[in-house]
Amino acid sequence: MELLNRWARLFVAILIATQAALCAPPVQAAQPPAPMAQGPTVVHVVRSGETLFSIARHYSTTIEAIAQANDIVDPRWIQISRRLTVPASETTPSHQPTTYVVQRGDTLSLIARRHNTTTQAIAKLNSILNPDLIYVSQRLVIPGSAPSAPLPSPFVAVELKPRPVVQGETLAIKIQTDTPVHVTGTLDDRPLTFVGEDNRYWALVGIGATAQAGPYLLKLTASDGTGETTTASELVRVIAGDFAIEQIVLSPETSKLLDPALVRAENERLNQLVGVFSGQQLWKELFRVPLHGAVRVTSAFGTRRSYSGGPPTSYHGGVDYGAETGTPVLAAGRGRVALAEELTVRGKAVIIDHGLGVYSGYYHLSEFVVQAGQEVKQGDPIGNVGSTGLSTGPHLHWEIRVGGVYVDPLQWTRQAFP
Ligand SMILES: [Zn+2]
Repeated sequence: MELLNRWARLFVAILIATQAALCAPPVQAAQPPAPMAQGPTVVHVVRSGETLFSIARHYSTTIEAIAQANDIVDPRWIQISRRLTVPASETTPSHQPTTYVVQRGDTLSLIARRHNTTTQAIAKLNSILNPDLIYVSQRLVIPGSAPSAPLPSPFVAVELKPRPVVQGETLAIKIQTDTPVHVTGTLDDRPLTFVGEDNRYWALVGIGATAQAGPYLLKLTASDGTGETTTASELVRVIAGDFAIEQIVLSPETSKLLDPALVRAENERLNQLVGVFSGQQLWKELFRVPLHGAVRVTSAFGTRRSYSGGPPTSYHGGVDYGAETGTPVLAAGRGRVALAEELTVRGKAVIIDHGLGVYSGYYHLSEFVVQAGQEVKQGDPIGNVGSTGLSTGPHLHWEIRVGGVYVDPLQWTRQAFP
């Protein structure tokens, strides 16, 4: 089927190309060749209505440079869907913006000199009023020489949602291309898994509740069937969330449960479980709060926590709802039960795999009414509220993890993914 499609597309491309060769508008008069700097090149697939002049202007280069790089004898005729190598010129440095984390001993002028830019340019881009005031571990955007450079073909659009993204939120990255490709990418060296087809691809990234605020570099690579690759980059701005600090007082008996070895073993096991990326999106709709009717949040997501009077040592990875023991707990979205058992810290627990690395967890239950492997629809009862495990009273702890990262579950009840 795929092969047939390809042949059909190729056939159509040849038809269009033949037509274009007959009616392509003449390109502008030749310009004197400009000296070219050595640098990475981009690949451009010629679209209907384009001329070598419009392509050269799009990439701020010259017709001659493109003609030379592609052995084009007569620049008046270019074929639609032909892949052109566009050499990087001095006027289009492929130099994209990057991010930099301030180290001990850095000054803004040192950083500027090292990145071939100016103190003023960095200060302006980062809204720094006093260039003498920067701090260790501060994240800076270093301007590229061509910050408004167009996306190289086959990339047509990159959409980030939400933008900017707040600590603890899930970020959807949607890519549109002009030809079917395989998309891979990283966010600050963290690998992303893209899914999709028909020139539209997307990936989800969990931004940790304690992720450093500031700019992060998103690098994207598109590769086609021939092994040709094109890269593009974007900046993802993470802004600080507003999280409360909460003191947790545990009874001596419950404190015993905080044995670091036990906590570590349980965490490791769950990390492994939710680290599995099943390649199918099982949820369809906006997620729902897993309790009926009006709910009472007793601890919000991301709340910094200190135990028995100490400094904050952790943060709350989910939302707590106060509810009476026995209150039915419902599946937040469609998925498959990945775990239903009693754990030391989390008590009686249910974890649902929604596919694509998205998992929801329901803890401290008095009992669960599903078993591992079972498929559930949104709203199906999965257990009842309780106070099992490390808990100070009957409540439901509800959490969502994306790629292993704890994210704000309530965002999933407001924003549809993808
Ligand atoms: Zn909780």
